[in-house]
Amino acid sequence: VLRAVRAVGKQLFLDFGEADGPTAGDGPWLRVHLGLYGAWDFYGRVSPISAVSAGGGAYGSIGAPRLRRAVRIAEYETPLDPGGITGEDDGLPGPVGQVRVRLVAGEGAAGWSLADLRGPSACEVLDGSAVDRVAGALGPDPADDDGPEALERFVTAAGRRAVPLGRLLMNQNVVSGIGNVFRAELLFRARLDPYRTGRAAGPEALAALWRDWSVLLRRGIDTGIMLTRDGLTQQEQAGAVEHPEERHWVYRRQGEPCRLCGNPVSMELLDARKLYWCRSCQL
Ligand SMILES: [Zn+2]
Repeated sequence: VLRAVRAVGKQLFLDFGEADGPTAGDGPWLRVHLGLYGAWDFYGRVSPISAVSAGGGAYGSIGAPRLRRAVRIAEYETPLDPGGITGEDDGLPGPVGQVRVRLVAGEGAAGWSLADLRGPSACEVLDGSAVDRVAGALGPDPADDDGPEALERFVTAAGRRAVPLGRLLMNQNVVSGIGNVFRAELLFRARLDPYRTGRAAGPEALAALWRDWSVLLRRGIDTGIMLTRDGLTQQEQAGAVEHPEERHWVYRRQGEPCRLCGNPVSMELLDARKLYWCRSCQL
């Protein structure tokens, strides 16, 4: 029985145990980190994802785009594998390809909900104390806690280091959950040079970064898409939902004119990840 769910940054913790067993939190827990290639595909009655999808945002999948191929069970002409997961005809489609974990909820052919996990960088079973250890080592996550203490943790951890902001924002021990898109966009929105260090940026700029991250993350969770531009007309907003290349200020726009100043957007590798920014706007 799934008793509790917790997400910290890019890590997902699922508490499984006896329904009438000891207090939730004891586990066993399943820890999943999708990494660059992992994805959950959802099938069947999947209300949260379907709701997002109806708004024009996400699809029946979370994670690597190449795995965006989930369909609703009702759309199957014939089951992919009549054997399902139990080897008997339970009405479930069989797993396709390398499925690492399958979660099943509901009952009866009309009521199944499936989540198939493929290609995660981490997938392991932990007890409660191990979860506390792993989660405790992660930087704060505004979706988990956006209070003053979390902000202070981030400002302190980032502010004492002579490390470029472009690197600090991707360090999951400093702040949780920021990936390549948000790294580039947060720094552009703040007009901060990615190579300025955390120490040089100072506490006010760092606190502003944290608050902006909190806003963008909440928006992303609510809409299912990473839209980081502001001040769009209703028509532009609809266009950005439809076309991912219209969603961002600088991300994946190297060589194209900056949307503010018109100078070409720059791209360089930082720790083997592509860093995008505008040399004119971000000082
Ligand atoms: Zn610019």
